[in-house]
Amino acid sequence: MTSTTTARPVQHFVGGEFIDSADAAPIDRHAPATDEIISLVQAGGAPEVALAVAAARTAFDEGPWPRMTGLERSVRLSRVADLIDAHAAELAALDAEEVGKPIRLAEGDIGGAAGLWRYAASLATTMSGSTYTNNGPDFTGLVLREPVGVVGLIVPWNFPALILSQKLPFALAAGCTAIVKPSELTSSSAQLIMRLTIEAGIPAGVIGMVAGDGRAGQALTESAGVDLVSFTGSTATGRRVIAASTGNIKKLSLELGGNAANVVFADADLEDAAAGVVFGVNFNNGECCVSQPRLLVERSVADDFVREVARQTALLKVGQPMERSTDVGALIHAGHLGKVTSYIDGAARFGGEVITGGTRLTDGAFARGQFISPTVIDRVVPDAPAFQDEVFGPVLTVTRFDSRDEAIRLANNVPYGLANSVWSQSIDTVLEVAKGLKSGTVYANTTIDAPPQMPFGGYKASGVGREMGQAGFEEFTELKSVNIRT
Ligand code: NAD
Repeated sequence: MTSTTTARPVQHFVGGEFIDSADAAPIDRHAPATDEIISLVQAGGAPEVALAVAAARTAFDEGPWPRMTGLERSVRLSRVADLIDAHAAELAALDAEEVGKPIRLAEGDIGGAAGLWRYAASLATTMSGSTYTNNGPDFTGLVLREPVGVVGLIVPWNFPALILSQKLPFALAAGCTAIVKPSELTSSSAQLIMRLTIEAGIPAGVIGMVAGDGRAGQALTESAGVDLVSFTGSTATGRRVIAASTGNIKKLSLELGGNAANVVFADADLEDAAAGVVFGVNFNNGECCVSQPRLLVERSVADDFVREVARQTALLKVGQPMERSTDVGALIHAGHLGKVTSYIDGAARFGGEVITGGTRLTDGAFARGQFISPTVIDRVVPDAPAFQDEVFGPVLTVTRFDSRDEAIRLANNVPYGLANSVWSQSIDTVLEVAKGLKSGTVYANTTIDAPPQMPFGGYKASGVGREMGQAGFEEFTELKSVNIRT
């Protein structure tokens, strides 16, 4: 471990000011690739949450933000998008270093984040309710759409700036005020975005941030001053969020774990499908909720297809996050690396055969970080933990099928239901499988492809509610019926 002299301080953001915790020691964030301490993160809890909630409550009840026209809010959200673009290199470097993800991917995330702020800006101008007049000549029903109030936004570590941007601008567009709780592992880009919102003219108090670990998230979830929590993270933590939110019957939006399948039929464009499968599982080091760690492939083409997938996997370059040639960087922390390797080690007990990768890299530049070679495990049975659980690493399992029905059954045979892909040149097959899959998203002849206009969220243990799209925006609103007799 190296000295902390160059480590970045990450503070709370309350009422437009950056502040420290009164008495808690900061959390050291070690870089996944080098183990250096790169950030010192203030450890917030109930006292800091109380301050941030009070500021956001005043801003909501008395401040200009919910009272502005949609156009006035929209102009400010667009300015944040422009400022994110202007600071893209810095934001991408922060996320790459703290997550351990390849810099090229982090740059894509920041472009996506700016796009989300721009799309949310457009929604601010079109927020509307509806009318109902078909209940007698003297009846007018107005359905008013209103901001839900003060919202808590809890963000995971794998896409720090991007997932923050799937939540914050949508809440702001609706006229809510918001408190962000970034992951303690990756808070620096959130801190910079806080600065940019002030520069963009969003009034002090409208947005707050409480840095820190699960204690800050728990306090935000328990707070009676928070009307809605939008949480993205693991299903295990999601269950805790549900339990902690009951005091004031909060609204919840929960974006939880995933375990997607790539379903490849013999009539697919197999070249595209092989590239898609390799990308789908290794994207973001495999640390992605819509990562596709389960390859389900039709038996008649399986042997050749799997050989090609393994060949392409072995060509991926594992490397330092900041190197532009890196395809797969460092996993988030040592405990997570241990979990990922345990699934690889355990696969053999279930008949699985590691056909490429499967080893931790420890030589030279890899010595101090959490690096693993991208892995393919063939002949994995559905009962194997590597098939059932969210492994969250660059590890692909392969299972063969003989029919559409079997493919759908296998894809659905996990607790999660976030996303799946289907590859076939038959529109009949694509539609039948898409309809049969129990997941909030289905990609067809593509993989991990999510424009901001498309609602995103989970079936089953993958969550409740939607993000992005009109539906994601409406999560941050309430409907009020005004029933008028004249
Ligand atoms: P996590 O559940 O450990 O943490 C998520 C956030 O919750 C962090 O900010 C953490 O500090 C906070 N937290 C921890 N304990 C809490 C508590 N008791 N109450 C409130 N907040 C608490 O998840 P993670 O390891 O940061 O992220 C990886 C997980 O997130 C994976 O399961 C992944 O699938 C999921 N994820 C889902 C989506 C989606 O859109 N569905 C997107 C990205 C990641």
